[in-house]
Amino acid sequence: MRLSTIKLSGFKSFVDPTTLNLPSNLTGVVGPNGCGKSNIIDAVRWVMGESSASRLRGESLTDVIFAGSTARKPVNQAMVELIFDNSDHSITGQYGAFDEISVKRTVSLDGNSNYYLNGSKCRRRDITDLFLGTGLGPRSYSIIEQGMISNIILAKPEELRVYLEEAAGISKYKERRRETETRIRHTKENLERLSDLRDEVG
Ligand code: ATP
Repeated sequence: MRLSTIKLSGFKSFVDPTTLNLPSNLTGVVGPNGCGKSNIIDAVRWVMGESSASRLRGESLTDVIFAGSTARKPVNQAMVELIFDNSDHSITGQYGAFDEISVKRTVSLDGNSNYYLNGSKCRRRDITDLFLGTGLGPRSYSIIEQGMISNIILAKPEELRVYLEEAAGISKYKERRRETETRIRHTKENLERLSDLRDEVG
């Protein structure tokens, strides 16, 4: 799996529809200070489901929408789409058969945010599930920010374990187990309620 294209529109400084092609495994983004290099990384994180505004260097989630400049009026929607080349079929599951997978997110000024997988509307969870265990995700080690290497070097053993579990593809199963345990707990609670009601009626 390889990220091959990033499309942005109305996202931070990328007000006009912009397509960035990443033709090889190594792509450098260069430009003067403030030209929008980090905004591209924010876009990648955002479309994969980042929900913390501060991690996107903003205060509210609608801060990712182009807010206007001296030359341009603000817009009311931001869109980012990532296109992954999945010809090696390393993304498995429901979308595993596709050679190309598109992941898209939009947000409008009223705060309404939508996600799409290969053009069909989906839940945020469908996107996070797709990448879980691949090493890719809004907070995964595949996006290495300034200071992150030293964080890893200084990490406590239990923090380091989280990175290793994601690299080994185990985190997906731990997440599933956590969800199943929650469902079992809820079912037990429901059974207890049912038993109480039965006692009352009987
Ligand atoms: P540096 O090299 O200094 O790290 P950079 O190339 O990474 O800079 P970014 O931080 O990506 O630059 O971009 C900053 C620019 O994006 C600023 O000019 C800022 O005004 C603009 N910007 C950020 N959010 C918005 C927004 N919502 N609307 C319009 N412009 C925005």
